[in-house]
Amino acid sequence: MLKPLTANSHPIDRNLNSSPKSYRGRFAPSPTGLLHIGSLIGALASYLDAKANNGQWLVRMEDLDPPRETVGAAEQILKDLAAHGLQWDEEVLYQSQRHKAYQRAIDQLITEDKAFLCSCSRTQLQSSQNIHLGRCQYIASEPEVDFAIRLQVDKQPLAFTDAIQGQYQQNLQQQVGDFVLRRKDQFFAYQLAVVIDDAFQHITHVVRGSDLLDSTPRQIYLQQQLGLTTPHYCHFPVITNLQHQKLSKQTFAPALSNQQALTNLQQALSFLQQPAASTAAAKSINSLLDWAIEHWSIANIPKQLAITAAPTIAL
Ligand code: GLU
Repeated sequence: MLKPLTANSHPIDRNLNSSPKSYRGRFAPSPTGLLHIGSLIGALASYLDAKANNGQWLVRMEDLDPPRETVGAAEQILKDLAAHGLQWDEEVLYQSQRHKAYQRAIDQLITEDKAFLCSCSRTQLQSSQNIHLGRCQYIASEPEVDFAIRLQVDKQPLAFTDAIQGQYQQNLQQQVGDFVLRRKDQFFAYQLAVVIDDAFQHITHVVRGSDLLDSTPRQIYLQQQLGLTTPHYCHFPVITNLQHQKLSKQTFAPALSNQQALTNLQQALSFLQQPAASTAAAKSINSLLDWAIEHWSIANIPKQLAITAAPTIAL
């Protein structure tokens, strides 16, 4: 099943022909549910930061995990983004079409002895607080059992500077352990796919919610193992409901109404603590977005990991 790399096979497709230096941002929804105010904030923040920097804004559909997906959600998310005036600049990339690229990266990491096969059960991992360290000897002799593929981490602390959260450091060995690149059920892991596709799409700036802040050192470490460039990162606070839960399908976050697009955008801008638009600017979606691009300021966004939704937002 695991095909080692041959000498002339392409290690990982990096879209090598061109390497644009200018700003390229992205919004990468998982189609597990419909767009809600939390995901609109993410779409808007990444869009405004790209446009305020004369950049391109891409949309990538992270449809990696079909059992968790909602039928029709991917198409509806794209319709909702368009209804909110958030128009992407290139063709949408679907992760369901990218399995070969993910497998190539895994093959490379295994050939270079950086990744390994693991058959540990949840119960086995519980005894080490779910931190897996060191190679699984067992799997090497039992290749027919279900196995995951993990990346071996090292003991160096990994630090980066986030545009909002500032300096952030993690010790992967102590805090995360050898992490999964392909799951036992054979689905590719988010951590792998996001790194391969950020590189493939030449993303220079990642603007996303703070729930992914602690995934970032794993992504930077993986970029380093694959020889890929690390983009700039910016993690804004996530919006929570009154029970302090991140909005999601599981917490019954209401889907956005496209009839209320202008109000939705104003609420998202207010959450990001951007200045309120003039009455003239707030007349249409396009004029509101133009105004917001012109007045966009990352410095206004609070350095918090989470903020409870204002009472004006119906949840
Ligand atoms: N697909 C992820 C999500 O919807 C976001 C991934 C990312 O922005 O890196 O939470």
